[in-house]
Amino acid sequence: MIETKEIKAEDLQDNPVIAAMSQYNHEQLLFCNDNATGLKAIIAVHNTVLGPALGGTRMWMYNSELEALNDVLRLSRGMTYKNSISGLNLGGGKAVIIGDARSMKSEALFRRFGKFVNSLAGKYITAEDVGITPQDMTWVNMETDHVAGLPGKSGDPSPVTAFGTYMGMKACAKKQFGTDSLAGKKVAVQGVGHVGEYLVQHLVKENAEVYISDIHNETLERVSKKYGAKVVGLEEIYDVNMDIYAPCALGATVNDDTLSRLKCSIIAGAANNQLANEKLHGQAVLDKGIVYAPDFALNAGGVINCYAEVTENTADWAMQKAEDIYGTIERIITRSADENTPSYAIANKMAEERIESIGNVKLPL
Ligand code: NAD
Repeated sequence: MIETKEIKAEDLQDNPVIAAMSQYNHEQLLFCNDNATGLKAIIAVHNTVLGPALGGTRMWMYNSELEALNDVLRLSRGMTYKNSISGLNLGGGKAVIIGDARSMKSEALFRRFGKFVNSLAGKYITAEDVGITPQDMTWVNMETDHVAGLPGKSGDPSPVTAFGTYMGMKACAKKQFGTDSLAGKKVAVQGVGHVGEYLVQHLVKENAEVYISDIHNETLERVSKKYGAKVVGLEEIYDVNMDIYAPCALGATVNDDTLSRLKCSIIAGAANNQLANEKLHGQAVLDKGIVYAPDFALNAGGVINCYAEVTENTADWAMQKAEDIYGTIERIITRSADENTPSYAIANKMAEERIESIGNVKLPL
């Protein structure tokens, strides 16, 4: 989402870790180790100007500590931008647990991890990410209150993410077609999992013409039958005669190959990191006259849902806040056109501006 330079072993010779942190101005890293449970984790607090750093914990079998370090630095910084652009009073943070999510989990490991989260005294709030389940978070919660996404609390974030995506898509339509109605518009949704299916529901309700693809045939058939969406092949989706491309599965699907094929005038979907190369493809999209809704601003419904939980707001409040994504995307794409600058770069700038302006707030003497 945000351009980051990968840290190489040779960059880390003198002051390895602090040098890595200073590259993107991370505030704090906490390295966690517990021999008894096998826990090896890194918690990264990137920026807390707007509030406590919120971001999920990822459990992944990294090939090296360096790979884990790069991932946690990149992801935590990304959360700062996502939370800022979404107008939340949250900073950015993330945690990674180094290990196999299928074989290394135990109550003790997650409780030990929870103790480390708790040692940050609320500066970092964790949640689920890749490889982590609500059950794991229940164990973390036995040791700390600084957890979001617990079972029985804010619940599945996908409906909120899909609604925010839909609202942002409408803002793009307003810019591109002069009306935010999606009736009759051809929308290709790639991936009809948790978010994709809810998005299809909104689109069909508004009488859009919906095309769908998915690697799971069962899911594909079920969603097609339920909503009357047209099934297209995994590759065919890029060639559909469509108005809007909505990637809701994988990252990096906006690349050299697909950009030469996509006939859409809007790209707006929930998947993370849609631009294979942010600089290159962000510019290419602008040059082609396509309105691109930056993924991290468009798919913020998930983090909004977590925020509702930690601030004890209701599910209705979260949906209301997700509706604001319309205005956020509208501001980004308007400024992108006015400044003839790729929308992702404008979104980054707007996120930075908010942090800077709130950071400059001074108490009256
Ligand atoms: P999911 O796993 O429920 O759904 C993804 C779907 O994509 C699955 O049905 C899968 O079969 C399908 N898929 C995988 N590869 C595909 C391919 N090559 N072509 C077509 N379909 C393919 O995930 P989700 O929770 O719906 O999330 C979708 C995307 O949105 C992910 O990139 C995720 O990171 C992002 N996102 C999700 C949320 C959320 O609230 N769930 C929030 C922010 C961002």
